[in-house]
Amino acid sequence: MVRLKNVNKHFGELHVLRDIDLDVARGEVVVVIGPSGSGKSTLCRAINRLETIDDGEITIDGEVLPAEGKGLAKLRADVGMVFQSFNLFAHKSILENVTLGPIKVKGMKSAAAKELAMSLLERVGVDNQAQKLPAQLSGGQQQRVAIARALAMQPKVMLFDEPTSALDPEMINEVLDAMVVLAKEGMTMIVVTHEMGFARKAADRVIFMADGEIMEQATPEEFFTNPQSDRAKDFLGKIL
Ligand code: ATP
Ligand code: MG
Repeated sequence: MVRLKNVNKHFGELHVLRDIDLDVARGEVVVVIGPSGSGKSTLCRAINRLETIDDGEITIDGEVLPAEGKGLAKLRADVGMVFQSFNLFAHKSILENVTLGPIKVKGMKSAAAKELAMSLLERVGVDNQAQKLPAQLSGGQQQRVAIARALAMQPKVMLFDEPTSALDPEMINEVLDAMVVLAKEGMTMIVVTHEMGFARKAADRVIFMADGEIMEQATPEEFFTNPQSDRAKDFLGKIL
C-alpha cells in the first residue's frame, strides 16, 4: 500500500532520512518511535509530499507520488494526516470543517457531505458538537474532529504525527481509543507516537528510528520486551 524504497533526505548538511526502505501493507498499523530529531515527522511529511526527497521512491498503491497538479490533490485525499496541533479552521463550525474537503476536493453534494460528516463525527464521539466552533471544544474533542475530517476524504492510509502529545493527560485516551477503533476496522495507519499502550493494543509492527535510519522493526511484543540495539534499549529506558 505504502512503499518507500531507498529514500534519502537532507536538510543542508543534515542527513535526516537515510536509505529508508519501508513497506506498509493494506490494513497494517505501523507505529514509529524514536528520539527527538530522528526523522519521524520528516518521514510522514515525505509520504504526503509536504516535504521533497532527494532520492529514492515513494509509492501509494503502486503509484509514484506526483509533484503537482491533479495528482497531488488526489494524493492528499488518499493520504489523511493528523498532526500534533489540530489545525481546524477556526472560523468554521465543526460540521463545516469536516464537509469542506469532500465538497471542495471531491465535488460531493452538500447534503451527502453533511450525512458523511455526521456519521464520522458520531464515530469519534463528537456529533453533539457539530454546530460549535473549534475553540468551544476541548483539545481531545478537536483532535477527534481532525480525525473525522481526514476520514471524510476516504483516505487509503492515515498518517498520525504525535496526535496526543499536545493534549492534557485526561484527553489522551479518548483520542487513542478512536484510533484503536480505526485500526481494528482495518485502516492502514502509520502512527508516530510514544504511547506504548496504543502500540501494544493496535500496532502490527513497531519501527524504531534513530539518526534518520530505521534501526529496528519488530512486533510490539518483541520490541518492548527484547529490543536489540543499545539505542533502542536506551530510548525505552527513558520513556517506559
Ligand atoms: P520530534 O520527536 O522532536 O518530533 P522527529 O523525529 O519528528 O523529532 P524531524 O522533525 O523529522 O524529527 O526532524 C529531523 C531532523 O531534521 C531534526 O534534526 C530537525 O531539526 C531537522 N529539520 C526538520 N525540519 C527541518 C527544516 N524544515 N529545515 C531544516 N532542518 C529541519
Ligand atoms: Mg516530529
